[in-house]
Amino acid sequence: MPKKHAPSAQHAEPSVKLSSRGVARLQARHPWVYRSDVIEEKETSPGSVVRVLDQRGKFLGTALYSSSSQIAIRMVSHGSVADLPALVAERLRAAIAYRTQNNLVTNTDAYRIVFSEADFLPGLIVDRYSDVVTVQILTQAMDAAPVRAAIIECLREELQPAGIVERVDGRIRELEHLPPRSSGPIWGDRSSTVINMNGVRCHYDGLEGQKTGAFLDQRENYAAAAQYAHGEALDAFCYQGGFALHLALCSPPDPPAKCSSVTGVDSSRPALEMAEKNAALNGRELEWIEANAFDLLREYSAANRRYDTIILDPPPFAKTKRDLEKALAGYKELNLRAIKMLRPGGILVTCSCSFHVSAADFLKVVADAAQDAHKSLRLIEHRGAAKDHPVLLNVPETRYLQCLILCVSD
Ligand code: SAH
Repeated sequence: MPKKHAPSAQHAEPSVKLSSRGVARLQARHPWVYRSDVIEEKETSPGSVVRVLDQRGKFLGTALYSSSSQIAIRMVSHGSVADLPALVAERLRAAIAYRTQNNLVTNTDAYRIVFSEADFLPGLIVDRYSDVVTVQILTQAMDAAPVRAAIIECLREELQPAGIVERVDGRIRELEHLPPRSSGPIWGDRSSTVINMNGVRCHYDGLEGQKTGAFLDQRENYAAAAQYAHGEALDAFCYQGGFALHLALCSPPDPPAKCSSVTGVDSSRPALEMAEKNAALNGRELEWIEANAFDLLREYSAANRRYDTIILDPPPFAKTKRDLEKALAGYKELNLRAIKMLRPGGILVTCSCSFHVSAADFLKVVADAAQDAHKSLRLIEHRGAAKDHPVLLNVPETRYLQCLILCVSD
């Protein structure tokens, strides 16, 4: 590990020199510099902690180096870093304090504790699901054994969980040239539990499911949607029933906003089986349909089916910039069908979790859909991810989720 300011010729520390474009990115307080902006490397190795220099050799700070990613360095400090595991533990405590001190987590025992760059811990995601904590490691530097040990020790001390589970993203490990690993417990003996979000109970299995098991970023949007939802409701792309269950269970105490029926649609059978179990856990039976939501919406709209509330929360259509046009066409089609099927006064909750689709793009695509459907939409709320998923203003990638709540009129 590099000592504080010890640039001796014999003990050359890993360092990288950046082009002026790379320096400009850091000055704009974006932590990533691409490989094309690294003009010189010394002593770097996979995951090393590197001193970052400008073209003239001026010290700019410390970064985590990746030997394989296009993102060659991710800044972790504008000063020197003598001990990365200690820094990671300190930042982890700071992430917990940020959420507590600002009262960001209310009405839930499931929330994100560390969101990578947005908590100044590039490549680390930590979620809490009641007494089970999940860890996802996405960069070479975070995968180093001493860093892993520091993460586990700090989480045990701060949160006293019954179990810590690692969720492995195999594709990312491959991209980062990290040896394959499988998901599984890394501490303790508990990997599944029951969580409570906004008074709705859900099963959580740390070894199954998508992302880290649930879509915690939508948690506050579930409650917001339930506030306006009424009548017959359709939750397309329902996964394990996050929106559907809230619509059925969390209507505000004063009618008229209340759902008479809620149907969830998803193409994943395991997700629907979990959704059904979740409904039973809350003493409800809802309708779950296994189908391609595009086909189902097309079929229902051709058959003149009508709803009072529709939720659209599809998977990210634009994983890269190149997919943007196709993604916008996908959002347009879905939103057009939903708008046509909504009764006057109906509520559309429509989401995009593609970072490459900006807020402006998404608003435009929904507006275009309204125009094609010959309807007017009023925007009740323009929401993002729950507050435990911080948005770092200078890092647009952290503002990836759009959730519009709209009311339809003829
Ligand atoms: N609203 C959910 C998250 C949805 S994630 C929540 O808050 O928990 C996107 C979901 O879309 C996944 O469950 C995935 O299985 C499903 N999906 C992907 N393609 C689909 C398609 N063509 N038709 C229906 N569901 C689809």
